[in-house]
Amino acid sequence: NSIIHLEQILKNYYMGTQAIPVLKGVSLDIHQNEYVALMGPSGSGKSTLMNILGCLDTPTGGKYVLNGKDVSKMPDDELANVRNGEIGFVFQQFNLLPRLTAAENVALPLIYAGVGKKERLERAMEALKQVGLETRSHHKSNELSGGQIQRVAIARALVNNPSLLLADEPTGNLDSKTSVEVMELFSQIQQAGNTVVLVTHEEDIAAYAKRIVRLRDGLIESDRLN
Ligand code: ADP
Ligand code: ADP
Repeated sequence: NSIIHLEQILKNYYMGTQAIPVLKGVSLDIHQNEYVALMGPSGSGKSTLMNILGCLDTPTGGKYVLNGKDVSKMPDDELANVRNGEIGFVFQQFNLLPRLTAAENVALPLIYAGVGKKERLERAMEALKQVGLETRSHHKSNELSGGQIQRVAIARALVNNPSLLLADEPTGNLDSKTSVEVMELFSQIQQAGNTVVLVTHEEDIAAYAKRIVRLRDGLIESDRLN
């Protein structure tokens, strides 16, 4: 069963009234527990596709079924519920709040979900344990390395137990040794039962994924198991 089902996804951006097609008919199925790398040249539409997969944006045309729900034409407020309930997002810019500790940063999504303070901290500690950082829970960003900061961001993405973990260039700001550690962490997360989809432009990083989908000029150019 597919967690992600895309049928002929189209996405245009508009300059005034002029439509600029960016995704030109993307069809793709991703099953539960897959580990997929999305590759392609700059401007090929990777981030646009990730934003649609993450319910941060809706397609201009085509159909997106996430976990059995058609989200292609969902209004923004319903889309926000799906996003908060089912999707964890990791960015290239780590987006941690510097004045908060690691545990407080990880617990943030639970505040929006209305979870009480005690349970928030327990669940944040659990997520930090998953990424091997339980001993760093009380540290702030300036006391953590780049790789540790990205692991905190991954813990924050996992704290809601999402069915889908999406990451846009998660190693883009990390050195190669730290990048490998982060990719191995994604492998562990996938082996624990999550579905992981990430964007990278580095072949040796993509090699950690089980399946590589390549975009070119808004279309899927190739899709193969690794
Ligand atoms: P990639 O992630 O593969 O580099 P993007 O999805 O970021 O590709 O961008 C694909 C194309 O769409 C690029 O030509 C980019 O300039 C354009 N684009 C992306 N976002 C917008 C936007 N918000 N408005 C207009 N054009 C955009
Ligand atoms: P990436 O290569 O990771 O997609 P970009 O620098 O292309 O990063 O895009 C960064 C942000 O700017 C994205 O949110 C994207 O949608 C937006 N963007 C990219 N190109 C354009 C554009 N031509 N017009 C408006 N927004 C754009």
